[in-house]
This record gives sequence, C-alpha cells and structure tokens, in this order.
Amino acid sequence: MRSDLFTDEQELFRDSVREFVDREVAPYVEQWERAGRIDPKLWRTAGEQGLLGLAVPEDFGGGGTADYRFRCVIMEELARVGAASVNVALGGFDDLIGPYLVDLGTEDQKRRWLPGLCSGEKGAAIAMTEPGAGSDLRGIRTTAVRDGADWVLNGSKTFITGGGRADVIIVVACTDPEAGSRGFSLFVVEGGMPGFTRGRALEKLGQRAEDVSELFFDDVRVPAAHLLGVEGGGFGHLMERLPKERMSIAYYGLAAAEAALRWTVEYTKERRAFGRPVAEYQNTKFTLAELATELDVTRAYLDRAVLALNEGRLSGIDAAKAKWWATELQQRVINRCLQLHGGYGYMREYPVARAFVDARVQTIYGGTTEIMKEIIGRDLVK
Ligand SMILES: Cc1cc2nc3c(=O)[nH]c(=O)nc-3n(C[C@H](O)[C@H](O)[C@H](O)COP(=O)(O)OP(=O)(O)OC[C@H]3O[C@@H](n4cnc5c(N)ncnc54)[C@H](O)[C@@H]3O)c2cc1C
Repeated sequence: MRSDLFTDEQELFRDSVREFVDREVAPYVEQWERAGRIDPKLWRTAGEQGLLGLAVPEDFGGGGTADYRFRCVIMEELARVGAASVNVALGGFDDLIGPYLVDLGTEDQKRRWLPGLCSGEKGAAIAMTEPGAGSDLRGIRTTAVRDGADWVLNGSKTFITGGGRADVIIVVACTDPEAGSRGFSLFVVEGGMPGFTRGRALEKLGQRAEDVSELFFDDVRVPAAHLLGVEGGGFGHLMERLPKERMSIAYYGLAAAEAALRWTVEYTKERRAFGRPVAEYQNTKFTLAELATELDVTRAYLDRAVLALNEGRLSGIDAAKAKWWATELQQRVINRCLQLHGGYGYMREYPVARAFVDARVQTIYGGTTEIMKEIIGRDLVK
C-alpha cells in the first residue's frame, strides 16, 4: 500500500530537497563521518535553500508553514542517502529548539535569536541532560539563582547535540529546589557569555559527524530577559514539546528503515551466490516480505500520527508509542538488511553499514524505549 501522506505541493518540495541533498550532502557524508564534523557551510546553504525553521513565522526569517509533512520530506530525503548525522544537525533546530523559541519567546527574544538560526548563521542546542540526570530530569543539579537583573547559572550538561557550535542554547536549570517539578526553568545562554565553556566533542559509536558535547556553567550571568517561558514552568514547557521531538525521531527511524529495505532489494537482485541472485532464495524473499509488511503497518500509524501532530491532536502517549515502536523496528530491519548484504554489509562504503551504527542511538535519545513504555503503561493503569 502506498502512503498518501503527501500533497502535490510537498512532492514538488521533495524535488528541490532531493536536488539539495544530492548536491550538498550525499557526496560528503562519509568524509564528514570520518572527520567527526559536518562542514559548517552546510547550515548556511540549507538556510539559503529555505530548509531551516520551516515552522518559524516568515517575519522572523522562517518558512511560515506549520505543516509537519514538509519536515517529513526532508527526513526521507536525508534517509535516502544515509545521512543520519545531517538529519540530526539540521532537524534539531526545527523539531527541538525552534518550537520553544516560537511558542514561548517574547517578541524581543524571537527577533534576537530566530533570524540567525533560520539563515543557518547561528546554531542551536537544548541542554537538559546532566551526568547524573538523563531519564529522570528531576535529578537536574544545574542551578539558576536570581541576582539583581541577572540569573547566575552553575552546573554542567552532557550529551548535548550541537553543543560544540551552538550560539543559542536553551538550558534547563533548577530555580527553586523546594518546589519539586515546579522548580525548573528554561534560560537561553549565548555562546561567549563569561563563565560558559564547552568540553570536548564526545566520541560516539554512530552519527559521528554530528557533534555531541559537554557544557559547563561557572557563575554565568544570564540577563533576566533570557528566561524563556514562565519561571518554574520549565518541566511543563518540556512536556508540551517532547512529543514533537519524539515524532521526529520515530519518523526518521521509519524513513531510514524504508531506505535500507530499498537498498537491500536492489543489492540482493544483483548479488549472486551458487549461480543465482541472492534475491531468488526463499529465505531472502521471506525476509524482505516480513520487513516490507512491518514497515507498511508502521507507516500507517506514523502517517496518522503526523496528521494528528499537524492538527494539534498528538498526545504524549501517542508520540511515545510511535517513538519506541518505530526506532526498535528500525534496528531490527536494518540488522536483517545488513545480514542480506553478507560481508559487504559490514563495510562502511555500503550505506547499510553506516545506517546500522547510526540507528543504535535512536532508542536512547529523546527518551529511552523503557521510558516510552513507562509513559504508555502508566496511562493504561492510572
Ligand atoms: C547521541 C546523543 C545525543 C543526545 N542529545 C541530547 C541533547 O541534545 N540534549 C539533551 O538534553 N540530552 C541529549 N541526550 C541525552 C539523552 O536524552 C539521554 O541519554 C537519555 O534520555 C537517557 O538518559 P541517560 O543516558 O542518563 O540514561 P539513564 O537514565 O541512566 O538510563 C539507563 C538505563 O536505565 C533505564 N531506565 C531509566 N529509568 C528507568 C525506569 N524508570 N524504568 C525502567 N528503566 C529505566 C533506561 O531506559 C536505560 O536503559 C543525547 C544522548 C545521546 C546518546
């Protein structure tokens, strides 16, 4: 069954994205993976092409469309060439950071930060996780204490995607240790603020081109005007926006698995063993059939979830289901596709090898599979 998720306008948009990906991304992905760094020029080129800040109002330099299907098109085209790092690098602003600035930012905050992020001149990150607090964010130890016209931030964050190059960083900090989950707030820290330093880029298993860094805050004076949203409302702000982040991880997972299946169908039709194409063995056909079926069934759920997201009806529970299911499936599918490539599947020059290592983190970041099941299960038995 073909997905009918996209409109003609989105298919036209796909043509220009595909051309961009083939020209600016595909030839360089493996080179960036080896260097552990994406060429910073890519953000500007993507900005010029209108691929950053799709949902940001045009007044602030964005695309002015809240239809999430345009983002899905970009994810599919990046997955087509196995560019998972680039997907995280470019999508982070649209799916993670942008929504906070657009929904919670004051007019001044939006003017200050959004245009540079939409043009790709600036980079963004969101810093929740700490060495002692990942799944359980109530363990956050970074503090923000009010002092005159400023807040003074102290603490450290780890595993922060884009942290090495970000100029605009949303930091979750504890503003009232007595207030439980109402004791956390969001602040925007800018690169170059005294007392703010970055640690080394962390060595990762996959998605090696995207930088993931440690951040340190040592008496960083953040002007009160950099408080984002409501003081003490940090957790609420996170809970409202995490479903979109989880949908983006789920959708890329599906797109990456669909791409791996396409590569594998082609590969097994060409590769011969015992005088016949590998595709002619019943084991191959049955494996491909199982994977195609699982992907089609998953697509039906995700297509619905994308439309629900567009209409503001996607619940945190629906997003949790999409995230754990699609990312676990992604790993199963890519693992079995790799097997059908034989030894070549283990060689990085074959996209399925890179897709295999890149997929591993998908069930971890944005909330682990176990936490997704906890969210769903808690709701069932409440
Ligand atoms: C590549 C990468 C990029 C990242 N990018 C960012 C970023 O940009 N910003 C950011 O803030 N964070 C980021 N993270 C952090 C990520 O969100 C956390 O790693 C993730 O939420 C898990 O937290 P943890 O690593 O502390 O694991 P832990 O919370 O220590 O979990 C360890 C294990 O215990 C399990 N577990 C924990 N609690 C429960 C429970 N209640 N029930 C059952 N099992 C449980 C977990 O599922 C996991 O299997 C990134 C991580 C990675 C690896």
